[in-house]
Amino acid sequence: MIEKDIIIVGGGAAGFFAAINIAEQNPDLKVAILERGKEVLTKVKVSGGGRCNVTHAEFIPQELVQNYPRGEKELLGPFHKFMTGDTIEWFEKRGVALKIEDDGRMFPVSNSSQTIIDCFLNEAEKYQVEVLMNHSVKSIQKEADLFEIETTQGVFSSKKILIATGSNPKIWKLLEDLGHTVSQPVPSLFTFNIKDERIQDIPGVVAQNVEITVLNNFSPSKGEMSQRDREVLKSEGPLLITHWGMSAPSILKLSAFGAIEFAKRDYKFEIEVNFIRQAFEDCLDVLKTLKQDLAKKTVFKSTQFDLPKRLWHKLVLASNMTAETRWADLNKAQLEALAAQLTKAVFNVDGKSTFKEEFVTAGGINLKEVNFKTFESKLHKGLYFAGEVLNIDAVTGGFNFQNAWTGAYIVAQNISK
Ligand SMILES: Cc1cc2nc3c(=O)[nH]c(=O)nc-3n(C[C@H](O)[C@H](O)[C@H](O)COP(=O)(O)OP(=O)(O)OC[C@H]3O[C@@H](n4cnc5c(N)ncnc54)[C@H](O)[C@@H]3O)c2cc1C
Repeated sequence: MIEKDIIIVGGGAAGFFAAINIAEQNPDLKVAILERGKEVLTKVKVSGGGRCNVTHAEFIPQELVQNYPRGEKELLGPFHKFMTGDTIEWFEKRGVALKIEDDGRMFPVSNSSQTIIDCFLNEAEKYQVEVLMNHSVKSIQKEADLFEIETTQGVFSSKKILIATGSNPKIWKLLEDLGHTVSQPVPSLFTFNIKDERIQDIPGVVAQNVEITVLNNFSPSKGEMSQRDREVLKSEGPLLITHWGMSAPSILKLSAFGAIEFAKRDYKFEIEVNFIRQAFEDCLDVLKTLKQDLAKKTVFKSTQFDLPKRLWHKLVLASNMTAETRWADLNKAQLEALAAQLTKAVFNVDGKSTFKEEFVTAGGINLKEVNFKTFESKLHKGLYFAGEVLNIDAVTGGFNFQNAWTGAYIVAQNISK
């Protein structure tokens, strides 16, 4: 049996961040990372489309937590201890400058996730963290105050262990055997599959400012959801039309906040899109004025409301008119149909697609079983969790990594004492 002071299971974002901070804060401790793969930090590598969206330029804890459909309440205290600003400082101190993009996402200035990986590998080496690859953890037993961890390459023991295995079903099973409960994992951060003539053949078109509401009396399951989610599920912002349906942060946000309910519905539900964020009646008034002002022009060719031309064409043709219909010829039903298409167009979602830049799993260790002052298990002294292994996940934008950094840092502070 190989003894270590601290064993970290999982050589990903949370595992490395914790290991480096522990070893730096207390160089006397022997820290080992057990990683099942032949490489470490593989998700960091592919993250953010290869650029690694490290964190987000949101510096108020109360605002920051609102990006976490699961974990909102639990992360508030931890964010007061280690936040986005601390992340930026942590990397800058180690020679990695970060930059803010217009939407608040933060990336290394190099635009390469390899910069983050190199930083972690250098720091781990500097503080003599032992990184053991091809060590898949097969069982975790607790004997008195010692954890025995069996891997594919031998048995390890330590008094303190950190589980940082991300969304790994096998590890969740081992943790269930230790008495923990796990919320059923379901995907989050996906785009919507929609087959509909109104968005057919216009991929790449962006409507700049839409409001999307999920229909069918949508009421996300209670219990683990925040108060906000129990209300109607809505989001606003730009909407991207893709080859297979709809995408953009507004859609990804719905996918995160509705993850559990959408899974229950097998990803079949309806959404209502208000393409111009105006009330139906107000829109109708505008259209009536246009009927007078543009009488001789065709509706098809006179794009309105700053909509992309190709989208306007589609919505016009879906409103009981042809490309030749002139404004003067519009009857009441046609005016109302167009106003409806613009302000309350209903689409059937049928399935989901992976968003290639970022995806996570909703589900993981029940948050009630964790002390968020230390990220230690309430069931077993010396057992800690950080990152996606917990039932915490966020919308897209760098928030998922921030959860990993914050949890790992707080674990390190406590473990290294
Ligand atoms: C394609 C993609 C892009 C992403 N981009 C972003 C982004 O830009 N910004 C952002 O904030 N989030 C992003 N995310 C989410 C982010 O990567 C995760 O939230 C984050 O990596 C979680 O960190 P973690 O340490 O908990 O888990 P991971 O990084 O997944 O690390 C877990 C590690 O544990 C190891 N492991 C698992 N089981 C065992 C075992 N039995 N024994 C030993 N080792 C084991 C795994 O091999 C892995 O190395 C992205 C996710 C994906 C899939």
